[in-house]
Amino acid sequence: MNQLRQLALLALICSPLRSPAQQWPVHSLDRPRPPVVDPGPERPPVPPPADAIVLFDGKDLGAWQSQDSTPAKWVVRNGYVEVAPHTGVIMTKRGFGDFQLHVEWAAPTPPKGESQERGNSGVFLMGHYEIQVLDSYHNDTYADGQAAAVYGQMPPLVNACRPPGQWQTYDIVFHRPHFAADGSVRDSARVTVFHNGVLVQDNTAITGWTVHGSRAHYQPHPDKLPLVLQDHGNPVRYRDIWVRELGTSP
Ligand code: MG
Repeated sequence: MNQLRQLALLALICSPLRSPAQQWPVHSLDRPRPPVVDPGPERPPVPPPADAIVLFDGKDLGAWQSQDSTPAKWVVRNGYVEVAPHTGVIMTKRGFGDFQLHVEWAAPTPPKGESQERGNSGVFLMGHYEIQVLDSYHNDTYADGQAAAVYGQMPPLVNACRPPGQWQTYDIVFHRPHFAADGSVRDSARVTVFHNGVLVQDNTAITGWTVHGSRAHYQPHPDKLPLVLQDHGNPVRYRDIWVRELGTSP
């Protein structure tokens, strides 16, 4: 083996194979912020498709409960539900695996707090994989923690946030992870997200359960788990939540 090939082999052995999500330390403030894209004005909700399971139609939280299975404690009024700070998450009574999900949310106005303390909530897919909800309109934070990030893993492709108080949409396509019999990951979960109609996650591979401040890892779990909306202590509002279950992944 000549010296050049030896060096090339050494370089290959020494450089860990990294997926794009692993090029930056978790919550790195050096990670570039995605470009800002104005998604256009807010729009009134449209009726869900005929085969959608309506999870919240503005009237009641019958499809939801608290983590301890008691009734959901968030406040329903005027066609929306608002986080009642420090009452805990709300979660669907049903579980979902592969699905298309539509959620609308609005951050509090006037805005209060900065960075992660401004309009923070989150849509936890299968209860473990957070698509961040945050008022990212003129509110800097670490890239993997801004609105529409896979929290702690992947920033959105662009920042398509509307101002606080305006309604925003997430349209999410999620494919659950698959685990081998020994609990190892056979297929990572994948997610595509449109924020206000703008593509922000393009079939992103999720690297594990959402955690704060450390590298994500998978733990095996059932094929269907509830959707969870996060109580981060900020009175974020939600409306018009529906889901369409997709066929079983191959
Ligand atoms: Mg959050």
